[in-house]
Amino acid sequence: MIIMKFGGTSVGTAARIKNVAALVSSVPSCPFVVLSAMSGVTNSLVEIVGYLYNRNPDGARETIKRLESKHLQVAKELLEDSSADTFIKETFAGVAALTREYFGPVQEKMILAQGEQLSTKLMELYLKKQGVNVVLLSALDFMRLDDQGEPDQDYIREHLAPLIEGKADLYLTQGFICRNLRGEVDNLQRGGSDYTASLIGAAVNAEEIQIWTDIDGMHNNDPRVVEKTSAVRHLHFDEAAELAYFGAKILHPTCIQPAKFANIPVRLLNTMEPSAPGTLIDNNPEPGTIKAVAAKDNIIAIKIKSSRMLLAHGFLRKVFEIFESYRTPIDMICTSEVGVSVTIDDTRYLSEIVHDLKRYGTVTVDLDMCIVCVVGDMDWENLGFESSVLAAVKDIPVRMVSYGGSNYNISLLVKEEDKARTLQALSRQLFA
Ligand code: ASP
Ligand code: MG
Repeated sequence: MIIMKFGGTSVGTAARIKNVAALVSSVPSCPFVVLSAMSGVTNSLVEIVGYLYNRNPDGARETIKRLESKHLQVAKELLEDSSADTFIKETFAGVAALTREYFGPVQEKMILAQGEQLSTKLMELYLKKQGVNVVLLSALDFMRLDDQGEPDQDYIREHLAPLIEGKADLYLTQGFICRNLRGEVDNLQRGGSDYTASLIGAAVNAEEIQIWTDIDGMHNNDPRVVEKTSAVRHLHFDEAAELAYFGAKILHPTCIQPAKFANIPVRLLNTMEPSAPGTLIDNNPEPGTIKAVAAKDNIIAIKIKSSRMLLAHGFLRKVFEIFESYRTPIDMICTSEVGVSVTIDDTRYLSEIVHDLKRYGTVTVDLDMCIVCVVGDMDWENLGFESSVLAAVKDIPVRMVSYGGSNYNISLLVKEEDKARTLQALSRQLFA
């Protein structure tokens, strides 16, 4: 069985939904299709939730009306009848009813779940009209979180198996949504539909998990900045994990782990060009190759220098505890005997963090920095790759270099204003 997941823009209009329907019904074996909400819908549902937390039901009602007409309009264009209208109206009546009740996290999750319920219902009705024997499964019947709030993979496997025993041309379900341990409606966090696809793939031991988007495949560098880029056809799961932090456009980071452990290949494909090979991600390394360069802006570097670090133990723990207490993740880190530099991309508690760090040393902050990461076979016993990366940036001021954290990556921290020339220089050096 193959799993085919389509994101919000791939089902964002009636025409797009028809396009996806044609694609999935042309697969000869029975595929398992996972859909996101139509593009923008989850954001609007988040908006509604915001109004309700702020006790502004009128604000919420306006957005509810707008979303309802949008879905009715798409349904009319797609189905050319009113077969979806009752479902759509009842869905939004349900949301509107929540505006009159006590509002808390349980109600919030129920509202956020509606986007995927609607998109899959529209797809089901359209496929049925085309004569496809589609079975719509409710993700709420098998997707479940455990006591840690993590997907319960045993539960998912056991509960999904009997649901797909019958005869169908294809199975369809909602991405993103699930139940928690208390049986309440919950979700896998924003962008979580990729995660759904990966969890289903692992549960049914799929041949392949396909993530379909409308973006033009994966490039070995940023095509907006570098003139000549080429497509990346193959990545190791660990390389994809390194890159996920940067583009996140390729696939959601959480989706990698279930597929990697179950050893199921993930293929990134483009709905606009369905016959293109896309990018295959699996557990096979490709020795001796550099795959891609990626960058992330809005990075802050913080240096803590202290003569007390010299020969002392426990210094790093104290420093890290401060970041932990403000729930601020550290991305890059470099140490010397007398100091440590770290980067963060979440500035919410920057001044508090800096204030607390001053207990342990002299603190310097560099704003507007950019992490540039080179991904590929960076096994430390290989010769020449690190020096080649550093040779490329010989004319660019480099604030930090991080190497050896994984076998697949070397990262540089440069000024944001130097990002373009860093990417260009690396491209010339590594891919010319
Ligand atoms: N609809 C959800 C979101 O926008 C899940 C997804 O698209 O992956 O976050
Ligand atoms: Mg999405």
